[in-house]
Amino acid sequence: MDIPYWNKEIETADRATLEKIQLERLRKTISSAIRSPFYKRMLGEVGISSGDDIKSLNDLRRIPFTTKDDLRKSFPKGMMAVDMEQVVRIHSSSGTTGIPTVIYFSMEDIKNWTDLLARCIVSTGATSKDVFQNMMTYGLFTGGLGLHYGAEAVGMTIIPIGGGNTKRQIKVMKDFQTTVLHITPSYLLHIHSKLGDVGISRDELAISKAFVGAEPHSENTRLKIQELLNIDAYNSYGLSELNGPGVAFECVYKKDMHVWEDAYIVEIIDSETGEVLEDGREGEVVLTNLVRHAMPILRYKTRDLAFLHPDKCECGRTHRRLSRILGRTDDMLIINGVNVFPSQIEEKIMQIPEVGTNYQIHVDKKGSLDRLTVKVEIYPKLFMGEASQLDALKNRIKEELRSSIVINAVVELHEPGALPVSEGKAQRVVDQRSKL
Ligand code: ADP
Ligand code: ZN
Repeated sequence: MDIPYWNKEIETADRATLEKIQLERLRKTISSAIRSPFYKRMLGEVGISSGDDIKSLNDLRRIPFTTKDDLRKSFPKGMMAVDMEQVVRIHSSSGTTGIPTVIYFSMEDIKNWTDLLARCIVSTGATSKDVFQNMMTYGLFTGGLGLHYGAEAVGMTIIPIGGGNTKRQIKVMKDFQTTVLHITPSYLLHIHSKLGDVGISRDELAISKAFVGAEPHSENTRLKIQELLNIDAYNSYGLSELNGPGVAFECVYKKDMHVWEDAYIVEIIDSETGEVLEDGREGEVVLTNLVRHAMPILRYKTRDLAFLHPDKCECGRTHRRLSRILGRTDDMLIINGVNVFPSQIEEKIMQIPEVGTNYQIHVDKKGSLDRLTVKVEIYPKLFMGEASQLDALKNRIKEELRSSIVINAVVELHEPGALPVSEGKAQRVVDQRSKL
């Protein structure tokens, strides 16, 4: 295969070269960070007064972790490392788990970020010939503008449509013969289920690729997307604290996501002890900015759980690959004392062919016990069959779930379109226990 690169030299640099770049950039980043009140204090406490105090990459471990709470406490300017005059853009997280946080970019930061996204896009085989429908929300959320700038650098034809308005999205896809989508996986599945309503068939569309990200999804969900739409779906990972999309992205081989290691130092840690784990072991992803100076963040605890692949990718890129996000340290449900991640449930139900494109997880109390209800949409023709068939399907789903999460779930079958949909990040879990 002819492998496409945006910047071959850096993308295929050997480990020694990458580490040399990392050390140089880490020093520079620390010298920037220390200009912010937050890092001045934090780094001062561990005896670091400038980048020169970092002699090797191992010295990174002297620096304490930064948490989401630190970002919130230093709102609005406690982590800003330049004068406001040098700030050309402000972004903010979507606030899935509470108060949003704010990020500042200088002109150079935006340029660096754009470059990373151009790499991501090119690594999937997309080119300037593609028509790119950017269906992520524009605005304070980083998803829309981030990819927009990257796509522009690559020279794609961009349709900056943003999120929402399903019918119009489908119509625009047809009118402009869109070839590449940027979208959340849940919304893409929803779009597929609405094609018929708009009276447009898959054959009238030209889509061949989708960049899917911003929310957790299993390999089985990816396979479902690829099969239903006959496209290639590439996983895209990022978070606003570390710029947004462009932290890690899948290449043409689609075997998990290259983390751009000249722009980020990635560590996988044991969340409880803070110990750094070796490649292959699952833990919390910790990231350090290397090319953002208006507001650098050091050793950010993302709360995302994943592992790094120890082996090389066939594409020749040397930047290590991060696994699919396996859960968030804060999305684990404890149900009658058993730990359950929503991703375990999704993985099981999405491999059952009768299950459609949407589902939701409910937790409430029945008496003193927790009750887990998994609501799934199934294809319409199944509702026309015998009631006994539906019962058999329910039981099959229940058994599949029990084999993975060791819990007896209540399974509810719904018609397509019955469960709530989101045009951005899906809300899969409704936990009502605290409200009861
Ligand atoms: P918020 O924390 O408010 O949702 P962001 O909008 O920055 O803020 O979202 C970043 C988070 O979204 C990540 O930390 C991760 O949990 C999730 N995320 C982003 N991309 C992916 C992906 N490809 N797979 C799984 N989760 C993802
Ligand atoms: Zn690769």
